[in-house]
Amino acid sequence: MEFPVLFLGAMPQDTPALYSLMNYAGLKLGTWYPMGGFGKVIEGMQTVCEKLGAQIHVNAPIEQIHVENGEAKGVILQGETHFFDGVVASADYHHVEQQLLKPSFRNYSEAYWNKKTFAPSCLIFYLGVSKRLQNLSHHTLFFDEDLLVHSIEIYKDPKWPSKPLFYVCCPSISDNSVAPNGHENLFLLMPLAPGLADSEEMRETYFSIMMHRLELHTKQSILSYIDFKKSYCVNDFISDYHSYKGNAYGLANTLMQTATLKPKIKNKKVCNLFYTGQLTVPGPGVPPAIISGKVAAELLHQHLKRNQHEVVI
Ligand SMILES: Cc1cc2nc3c(=O)[nH]c(=O)nc-3n(C[C@H](O)[C@H](O)[C@H](O)COP(=O)(O)OP(=O)(O)OC[C@H]3O[C@@H](n4cnc5c(N)ncnc54)[C@H](O)[C@@H]3O)c2cc1C
Repeated sequence: MEFPVLFLGAMPQDTPALYSLMNYAGLKLGTWYPMGGFGKVIEGMQTVCEKLGAQIHVNAPIEQIHVENGEAKGVILQGETHFFDGVVASADYHHVEQQLLKPSFRNYSEAYWNKKTFAPSCLIFYLGVSKRLQNLSHHTLFFDEDLLVHSIEIYKDPKWPSKPLFYVCCPSISDNSVAPNGHENLFLLMPLAPGLADSEEMRETYFSIMMHRLELHTKQSILSYIDFKKSYCVNDFISDYHSYKGNAYGLANTLMQTATLKPKIKNKKVCNLFYTGQLTVPGPGVPPAIISGKVAAELLHQHLKRNQHEVVI
């Protein structure tokens, strides 16, 4: 229950013991990697959905959920209404309620969200390196500073960390399709309190800290071989994903935000509107978010059947 639970949204000592199952899965059952990267899982899901008749619209930010007489009639996209029998909202729950629904149709107020504890945001660097690296595994966790200090700076006294722990992923060690021959694909991730002021200067400060420690511990020069660099942080999570306070992993998994204490999957005022994803049940992470989609779809299916709609999946 140490570094990995930082991503669950609480200090190890505040995390329910149940979540040790996450460490059990990682250590005992092993870590699985989809060849080609995680995007291949999304491509696989897209193929299955399209075979079942789904139409997927990308780069299509919904502007409003259109409600009439307590029923969602459709969604507004680029000023045009698209009509549906029901809506499962999978974007950030806070964004859906506060931006896409009129106040009278919301389950929760701004004050409700403000009181919730959120999981961390993070600072990420995507790097291309023009040589092969030594002394590095596919996954490497840097535990070389004090976990308690970094945890306090995320959860109790939010600020940019004084001595961060961080994670380095080098998928090109296991998968030669994710970097050109003789090159390496690197990903650095540092957990960070959500809602902090994010600037280019801050990102660069931590880039230098992480690169220095990476070079020191792997005993090689890397900086001068970087031929691609892109950073991603709080402001990007907000602008790209409408993520509340730029959080990266949803609601913190504290006891008071577990199971029935999470935001409800059903809208109480709009009969055919359901929520799914990391801010409702069962919670954050890819597997729970997928299970959440299944639960929401089943609830909508039952609602439509009860109301004698012809159900086409
Ligand atoms: C760097 C990082 C590493 C992670 N590592 C792991 C890991 O190792 N294991 C794990 O289990 N989980 C991991 N997670 C967490 C996991 O990715 C999330 O919990 C999960 O993706 C949440 O799924 P979701 O469907 O709720 O939200 P999202 O995946 O964020 O999907 C919501 C979608 O809604 C879209 N959207 C937002 N607003 C609108 C709008 N108005 N109209 C239309 N679309 C909109 C967004 O663009 C987005 O595509 C990681 C997260 C991050 C950021």
